[in-house]
Amino acid sequence: MHLCVKGGFLVRIYDIIAKKRDGLTLTDEEIEFFVEEFVKGNIADYQASALLMAICIRGMDIKETSCLTKAMIHSGDTVDLSKIKGIKVDKHSTGGVGDKTTLIVASIVASFGVPVPKMSGRGLGHTGGTIDKLESIPGFKTSISEEEFINNVNNINFALSGQTGNLVPADKKMYALRDVTATVESIPLIASSVMSKKIAGGADAIVLDVKCGSGAFMKTLGDATSLAKTMVQIGTELNRKTIALITNMNEPLGEYVGNSVEIKEVISTLKGNGPEDLTALCIELATHMLILAEKGNEDELREKVKEKIQNGEALNKFMEFVKAQGGKLDINGKNLKVAPNTIKIKAGKKGYIKAIDAESIGIALVLMGGGRMKKEDSIDYSVGIKIDKKIGDYVDENTDIAEIYTNKENNEEIISKIQTAYYYSNEVVKKSDIIYNIIK
Ligand code: URA
Repeated sequence: MHLCVKGGFLVRIYDIIAKKRDGLTLTDEEIEFFVEEFVKGNIADYQASALLMAICIRGMDIKETSCLTKAMIHSGDTVDLSKIKGIKVDKHSTGGVGDKTTLIVASIVASFGVPVPKMSGRGLGHTGGTIDKLESIPGFKTSISEEEFINNVNNINFALSGQTGNLVPADKKMYALRDVTATVESIPLIASSVMSKKIAGGADAIVLDVKCGSGAFMKTLGDATSLAKTMVQIGTELNRKTIALITNMNEPLGEYVGNSVEIKEVISTLKGNGPEDLTALCIELATHMLILAEKGNEDELREKVKEKIQNGEALNKFMEFVKAQGGKLDINGKNLKVAPNTIKIKAGKKGYIKAIDAESIGIALVLMGGGRMKKEDSIDYSVGIKIDKKIGDYVDENTDIAEIYTNKENNEEIISKIQTAYYYSNEVVKKSDIIYNIIK
């Protein structure tokens, strides 16, 4: 169907595409028409793709982006979390490599008695997903009933599940097209995709981790700032307390990339032995979630967060959460399977490391079987990559920069992908901060 009467106006999808192609502003009726009819299957994929490309090139102003977000929220079910007491806080990352912050941060925040009902996704392409990481724990159930989810949050303050069937179907359909039509990297499309899911998911307050750098969708600070501002504005307009941290993704986060190896890193970070960048980011994310949950002022909370790591309460909360969802996990992660075949990777060059292309590292993991390119692909949870050297480190040709845990016979392509992900400089490279900016 190419024609529809909406609010007394005659609308044609062709005209909407042409209008956005010419850089004009779409009306609320036009945006709502597109979302409703596309979800119903009345707009062809090629027309939806053309409109998404026009939006990608021409952009959308904040009013259009906010209208698109609302239309996407109303395209399906929304989660009712009213049976959970207290201010429910969520966190969302725009996607990165080695990003295991959700499990650390949610455990810390839940240990303060703040409810964290978390809906997470699987990894796709070069980025990892929390659901996949958790499935590396024997017995862990990522699919639990709504009743169990709510009971777990009420009892232990933390539960996590995959996205329910009909939550924001508009995003599912649009994302599937964007993924194959080079239209993911668009500020209004990312903002509406993320915020529609967060708001439909039922949280009262949202902390956004907007990744910036080579391994992120937003490569520059200017773009990351625009995305962060757009999402904070949408959240605030829809009565959700929202804050965004713009964070460094010029190299993988922490030391490990993979599924079971990342769960091991979650445990060591919750024990206070985590890598500096990951620990610092988790402390800031947790502190800001607690501020939104009205638990105190920033400086006090930051100290209390560190205490929860030192006194073991955050780790206990994580273990309690894993057990509540059927997982059997040794407190040292000894029962997690890690591929026995390890290969050290040499720099092959000398100099100061100035960047590590996180996307290439993510792809190397996919080549080992640790990630998926298509939704239906299965995963080898036991494979992984250890990043031994990071930005600012000096290496020579023989320095080990990384190590892989692999089940493959032939690893040449993987080794080369990791080696060429490292960029060097003759000049000393200063390590950049993990947090670039905070948008409130
Ligand atoms: N994450 C999302 O949920 N949506 C996007 O469009 C990009 C990252």
